[in-house]
Amino acid sequence: MNAAPLHLSRRIPLTALAMLAISLLLAGACTAFFLVTARGRDTSRFERQVQMTQDQITAHLKSDITLLRGAAGFFAASKTVTLQEFRIYVQRLDMERYDPGVQGIGYSQRIPSSQKQAWVDRLRASGLPTFHLWPEEPREEYHSIIYLEPPDARNEAALGYDMFTEPTRRAAMERAWLSGEPALSGRVILKQEIDADLQMGFLLYVPVYRGGAVPASEAERREKLEGFVYSAFRAKDLFNGIFPSDPLPRIFFRIYDGMEARPEQLLYESPSDGERPLESPRFTHTSHLEFGGRPWTVVYTSNAPFEQTLLTPWVPAVGAMGLLLSLLVFTIAWTQISARQRAEASEAERAQLLAREQAAHAEAEAQRTYLHQLFMQVPALIGIMRGPQFILEFANSMYQQVMGSREMVGKPLGEVMPDLSPEILAMFDTLYRTGQPQFARELLIPIVYAHGQVEERYWNFVLQPRRSREGQVDGVLVFAFEVTDLVLARHEAEANREEARGSARKLQTITDTLPALVAYVDNQERYRFANRTYEAWFGLKPEELVGKSIREFIGEPAYEQFKDPIHRALAGEPVRYEAELPIQKGPPIHTQSSYLPDRDAQSRVRGFVVLAFDITERKRAEEAVRNAVRLRDEFLSVASHELKTPLTPLSLKLQMLAREAEAQPESPFVLKVRKDVEAGQRQIKRLADLIGDLLDVSRISSGRMKLQWEEVDFAAAVREVVARLEPEATRAESRLTVEAPEALWGRSDRMRFEQVAENLLTNAIKYGAGQPIHVRLEASPGRMTLTVRDQGIGIAPEHQARIFERFERAVSERNYGGLGLGLYITRTIVEALGGTIRVKSEPGQGACFTVELPREPSVP
Ligand code: ADP
Repeated sequence: MNAAPLHLSRRIPLTALAMLAISLLLAGACTAFFLVTARGRDTSRFERQVQMTQDQITAHLKSDITLLRGAAGFFAASKTVTLQEFRIYVQRLDMERYDPGVQGIGYSQRIPSSQKQAWVDRLRASGLPTFHLWPEEPREEYHSIIYLEPPDARNEAALGYDMFTEPTRRAAMERAWLSGEPALSGRVILKQEIDADLQMGFLLYVPVYRGGAVPASEAERREKLEGFVYSAFRAKDLFNGIFPSDPLPRIFFRIYDGMEARPEQLLYESPSDGERPLESPRFTHTSHLEFGGRPWTVVYTSNAPFEQTLLTPWVPAVGAMGLLLSLLVFTIAWTQISARQRAEASEAERAQLLAREQAAHAEAEAQRTYLHQLFMQVPALIGIMRGPQFILEFANSMYQQVMGSREMVGKPLGEVMPDLSPEILAMFDTLYRTGQPQFARELLIPIVYAHGQVEERYWNFVLQPRRSREGQVDGVLVFAFEVTDLVLARHEAEANREEARGSARKLQTITDTLPALVAYVDNQERYRFANRTYEAWFGLKPEELVGKSIREFIGEPAYEQFKDPIHRALAGEPVRYEAELPIQKGPPIHTQSSYLPDRDAQSRVRGFVVLAFDITERKRAEEAVRNAVRLRDEFLSVASHELKTPLTPLSLKLQMLAREAEAQPESPFVLKVRKDVEAGQRQIKRLADLIGDLLDVSRISSGRMKLQWEEVDFAAAVREVVARLEPEATRAESRLTVEAPEALWGRSDRMRFEQVAENLLTNAIKYGAGQPIHVRLEASPGRMTLTVRDQGIGIAPEHQARIFERFERAVSERNYGGLGLGLYITRTIVEALGGTIRVKSEPGQGACFTVELPREPSVP
């Protein structure tokens, strides 16, 4: 929240400003309206005055012209006008009364020089005894004033005067003469001006022609002019008569002769009753009038009395009034609005304060609740106790939970927890007495549940003093948190450690009795464990060895020898090797060592277990066996040679005997021994075969079996073997069938190949007697396959691999004789020829031996 409403009251309220603007606008509009109206009224007043003045001047002068035209008509109408007639005529006009500005009406006669004297005489005779024409200078024509009424002193002074001699008058006279129209003169000083009151004047002429009427042409008019009826005007008298000074004219004006307002041409200036015309009048108007062909310029200006009645000067006052009024309105509005806003602001402020107070209150309440909840929820025991009796004032949830359903608040500690140990009670007392906080670690306080179950719990206790305002200890704050898990975990760890120590001892005991080296080497290549054997072999106690590095123990040269297996073991590879170890006493012993890597939970090798067995004895036994086998093989070799030596002549002898017997088939002796001879031959052959096998085996084991590589027709070889064994099969009552291509050439050792085929076929006849036997030879790209299938006793699966080894048999010797060498030799030959042999058989289902050989072996 901020104090924005308070700021507002210090600023000019917008409404007040708006009102000020509006009232100023209104005031301005009113003033402008007033200005326009006032100016319009003032102007029209002035213009009316001007118009009135001008109208009066015009009317007056027009009537004067008319009057003079009348006088001219009088002259035109009568042939001669006498002085008396004229005087009566003028008197009847009573001009002095009606037109005081007209100094006189006269008549000027055109007098040719020839008639000059006659006219003077006539006029003197008619009642003007002093009449004379003046100026006197002789000239062709005279225009003399012969009548001038009324006959006063001024007019008499002008009588006889020739106005044609004076240019201004002459100009007007000539204009009238030639135009036939009245003509007004310029500004003159009248001849009548004979006293101090000198006035400007002018004259008005109307021509009179002979015959009365105005002649139509100018020439006629020039010729027929008789004279001029004229009026002489004293300007001041004239205009003062028109505009009497009472009441004073509302405006001031000056009349100038001519088209311009030149001071030297000033005819008249309206009276101002002593007041000076205004320096800079508000209104000025200039107009041009024309009378009798003569222009006048009239300049009107407003004068002081007129200007006093003007409205325009009031405009500033009106404006000021408007301004003042606007300011007044504004001030009132401002005051009012400000007052209202202040009221509103203070109201808002109060509401704000109230809201703040409520918020603070709520906040405090929330914090209190939060604290209370916190106190209640902490997984610790919080209690507040009062007085030396430690009466419980507050106990949080955990406290209550721990105490079970016991009613606690308001009760003394001794009653709440009667089973508290005296040490703890002493802590409470000490605290109360000294004010020193008390601590206790891992106190065992059993919890006794309502249903009687007891649970052992460990607690860490903090007792804090509570002090009164005066600083006296008046209570205790108890804070306790449970550490049962921690304590139990520690106990367990201790127990585990003890157990581990026990296990280690056991391990030591067990391994000590082993006739082998048992040790544990860490990844720093240091012994961490070693059994007693080390002491027996190397004279070093296990406890002396533990902590030593392998290098230290076995020395640099020996370490070089064992470095590789050690590093491999530490790289994680189980290592096994045999080595001779020099021992403390006696000859070196032969050992078989295993290094077994030990990995941590992250699979990192942290060491390896060393197991080293003394295999000296075994080595010795093996050596003995090897020697025995060697001796046997030697014996076999020698024996088979020795056996074969008498067998060959024996076999020859039997063959000879058989041939001789055949030669005498009818001899009773032959008939008697032939069967024995044949049996003897068969036995010899079997013996020869056996010896052959023995020889082959001894050749194989001594590596003396040699192959004779040659071009072989496998098909022919197979057929030959089958033919050879045909009688044997017949004896065994087995039918022998062959399936082979015409010829199947390849490179091989024919004798050895035939030996293979013969061995397999012999076995088939032997173990499949009475059942048909099928031999098949097939060619595949680069290879040939020989299959010998019988339907005899078959071979159990567990024996199938074994029968290809030396002396291995799957039948009892009682049922079937044999050495168990045939298949061994066969396999060895097949492998030497670069091929493979396999068997497929089920017991009682016969056997099928398959030999696969390359047709062009890569060997040689
Ligand atoms: P021998 O035949 O002399 O015992 P062999 O090496 O030729 O030795 O054969 C090994 C053994 O394989 C025989 O003892 C016999 O158990 C078994 N065996 C060989 N050929 C066959 C066959 N065709 N049928 C059943 N068993 C056979």
